[in-house]
Amino acid sequence: MILLDGKKTANNIKDEIAIEVKKIKENGGRIPHLAALIVGADGASLTYVNSKVKACQRVGFNSTLVDLPIDLTEEQLLNEIELLNKDTEIDGYIVQLPLPKHIDEQKVLMAVDPLKDVDGFHPTNVGKMTLELPTFLPATPYGIIELLERYKIETSGKSVVVVGRSHIVGRPMSILLSQKRKAGNATVTLVHSRTTNLKEITLKADIIVVALGSAEFLTGDMVQEGVTIIDVGITRVKDDSRKNGYRLAGDVHFESVSKKAAYITPVPGGVGPMTIAMLLKNTLLACKMKGL
Ligand code: NDP
Repeated sequence: MILLDGKKTANNIKDEIAIEVKKIKENGGRIPHLAALIVGADGASLTYVNSKVKACQRVGFNSTLVDLPIDLTEEQLLNEIELLNKDTEIDGYIVQLPLPKHIDEQKVLMAVDPLKDVDGFHPTNVGKMTLELPTFLPATPYGIIELLERYKIETSGKSVVVVGRSHIVGRPMSILLSQKRKAGNATVTLVHSRTTNLKEITLKADIIVVALGSAEFLTGDMVQEGVTIIDVGITRVKDDSRKNGYRLAGDVHFESVSKKAAYITPVPGGVGPMTIAMLLKNTLLACKMKGL
């Protein structure tokens, strides 16, 4: 079994980006600038956003954190988005999800300038991705594609099962893996909560991407020998033996599945760091596109 080391791979990508930033600086160019907008920061969301801001510092980007109160109205948030759209210093920004219930998430994501949408969630960018046109790929599926590529895992002609059909992970993942591209050309089955014979399907898969948000859902009896496993899930599970009172669990029961897998991502240290690295890659792209 080979561990797909997302942390190490993400660090390699960050090093590559840092070299590019250094070159930009040396040539007197403008440094990429990523902003992150968060509303009503709770513990988990703030941790995610802070790790994105820290990653910016590591590669030499400029970064801005826009931390807004939870009782902000939808109109006020849309005004903040408009400010970010107009700010010529900012190349790209993300809106940390989930947003408070009184705010329409779709409306907010639609308001993001597609040219600054480094999360790749805007319909314009989703459409471009689907049509295989150059655009910002959503960071988590993009990170998985990159991980598969860098570990030279063959996807062409393989049977891939994606568990979960969310707009940010499962759905774009299934689209990318089925496209005519490197780390593509797979025969993809997308399963979800209404799938009736899930185990029958996962047992036949060469590669399984698990993104449902249910701790240790995929167990060893659901996979075949030699499978490649990509575990996207991150769930906080109560653990009194830890100082903080919880541990992070993936969607895969690592102990039983890793015994059969040829390749597997750990949680933490797998898909998570790759997501952040690809966000930086998208920001660099946004900055370069602006300069064209
Ligand atoms: P969503 O809740 O948006 O989607 C979950 C999907 O899983 C839905 O399509 C749902 O089906 C499906 N599902 C739920 N239960 C089952 C089941 N029993 N069998 C089959 N399918 C099921 O989640 P996200 O995609 O946003 O996130 C998934 C996980 O990935 C979470 O743990 C999240 O924290 C993590 N995540 C990690 C990232 C990273 O960087 N590592 C980035 C983004 C997310 P249906 O559509 O029918 O409801």
